[in-house]
Amino acid sequence: MNTDDRPPVTVIGLGAMGKALAGAFLDNGHPTTVWNRTEGKGRELVERGATEAATAAEAIAASPVVVVCVLDYDAVREILGAPGTVTGLLAGRTLVNLTNGTPRQARELARWVSGRGADYLDGGVMAVPPMIGNPGSLVLCSGSPGAFTAHEGTLSALGAVDYLGEDAGRASLYDIALLSAMYGMFGGFLQAVALTGSERIPATEFTPLVVSWLNAMLTSLPAMAKAYDANDHSATTSNLGMQATGFVNLLETGRDQGVSTELLKPMGALLDRGVAANRGDDGLSALIDLLRTGPASATDPASATDPAKGADPAKGADPARATDPARATDAGSHDVVSHHLGSE
Ligand code: NDP
Repeated sequence: MNTDDRPPVTVIGLGAMGKALAGAFLDNGHPTTVWNRTEGKGRELVERGATEAATAAEAIAASPVVVVCVLDYDAVREILGAPGTVTGLLAGRTLVNLTNGTPRQARELARWVSGRGADYLDGGVMAVPPMIGNPGSLVLCSGSPGAFTAHEGTLSALGAVDYLGEDAGRASLYDIALLSAMYGMFGGFLQAVALTGSERIPATEFTPLVVSWLNAMLTSLPAMAKAYDANDHSATTSNLGMQATGFVNLLETGRDQGVSTELLKPMGALLDRGVAANRGDDGLSALIDLLRTGPASATDPASATDPAKGADPAKGADPARATDPARATDAGSHDVVSHHLGSE
């Protein structure tokens, strides 16, 4: 394969994910420059052909596409905000930020980056490091359409790339939503194994049942999605009232078995709220409306910016759906990135 014409790429951040990303670019013939805050993490990549930059600035200057994948946005800000690092260097380049963060953080960073004459793409990596560059790896991406068109080929070295449009926050929203679903599933698994483990049933013996049960339950998701989109939650074989009654047994069994119910209690409370809102005859999908319409918890920091806060959770009313969350979030956000990074 002729890889001579592959564009150069820079990867900033050589943790488990950054190393995998850089490795995939190398495997696909991209001249790859790497930089990491702590020295020494690029050694193996250098042996495979990468160039290790001495500074973040040198790394940014090396390529038209700069991929950043560090722990969090604070780290991104620290790198981009280091004195002398960014001014004049980002202009004309594309910053692809694959660091996990919130839609608001992505939108703020996009504004900051475009203010420096650069294009911004935000991404969510839906894979663990060994999957990168292999079948099953998915990178969700959103932001500058021109930059995506120009660099889609380069990014495809990482796996399938799904472009979700111009809003830089959209990829992050999908990423966080998918992770929310994942943690719900993992939380359920942890609870299940803790319960059976309380009677010394080996997890390996019980887990195949969990897998087949969850797979069977997964088939109900498209119907729930359809009910939510149609705002018709009525046709159901498993009404909320029945589920709220049965859920009490999950809590009681946890207590009886000496297993914490901390993961289960919020779901029980939501089911109860559904019944209290006269939605006991509806299906589980009705709870999505309740999640979007409060009550906003006083201890939930996200509630402060919840566009749906204060809306009427009564059956049939759907004020949250009339709110465009992207616009509400955008309008309400301050330029925190500029605050952290300065205007230079
Ligand atoms: P690691 O903990 O392995 O690495 C963290 C990286 O961030 C290191 O390169 C570290 O540098 C760097 N870093 C942390 N703080 C700073 C800072 N203040 N300034 C500069 N660099 C900093 O994490 P991963 O590589 O696994 O994850 C990176 C991103 O990828 C995260 O946002 C994560 O959520 C996301 N991700 C990870 C997945 C995974 O399974 N690993 C899956 C999908 C997404 P140093 O070596 O100097 O400490």
